[in-house]
Amino acid sequence: MSLFFQGETMEVMIGGAKLELVEGDITRQDVDAIVNAANSSLLGGGGVDGAIHRAGGPRILEECRQLGGCPAGEARLTTGGNLKARYVIHTVGPIYQGGGQREAQLLTSCYRESLKLATAKGLNSVAFPAISTGAYGYPLAEAARIALKTVMDYLVQHPQIKLVRFVLFGAAAYEAYEQALRELLRVFPGAREQ
Ligand code: ADP
Repeated sequence: MSLFFQGETMEVMIGGAKLELVEGDITRQDVDAIVNAANSSLLGGGGVDGAIHRAGGPRILEECRQLGGCPAGEARLTTGGNLKARYVIHTVGPIYQGGGQREAQLLTSCYRESLKLATAKGLNSVAFPAISTGAYGYPLAEAARIALKTVMDYLVQHPQIKLVRFVLFGAAAYEAYEQALRELLRVFPGAREQ
């Protein structure tokens, strides 16, 4: 994958807020905060977590060490180190174990708690990866529906957030999100494609 590659995009307005889907690399996003799909130690890992620490430099890990971990479904804030984003919101997704272990509630909580931290800090723009859909094994289509529905519900209630961008790594993730968003648009009042 080229570091400069950014493929498909889709934009939807939810009231005064923009919801975007892009195919690309979250570490390169120029937003107030990017969200990290961390593990509960907050001490770094593979996937998007490794990419964020590599791009953001050691300062983020130093701040994470002070936080003492984070349970699944919760979120913690650090600065963005060398990233364009001023902050990183670290959230811990559920490990998918078939769906009977409160995975859907925990994944919903990741998105909501991350946005609550952004609201509390007065931030206007946030980028999310597809939490739990890599090493943690959450089925992409269902994870996409939960992610989008939770964010859309939040945006309706919190007009301070002006932009939420889902940064999908690869065509399969992008396409799952696009399909889930098209389905939600049919039933979500007031949302319209740009
Ligand atoms: P988890 O443990 O929560 O499943 P992973 O990092 O393994 O976390 O995967 C979460 C998602 O992040 C996957 O869809 C993966 O393809 C994606 N991903 C990996 N690297 C990046 C990146 N640089 N930018 C955006 N998404 C990424």
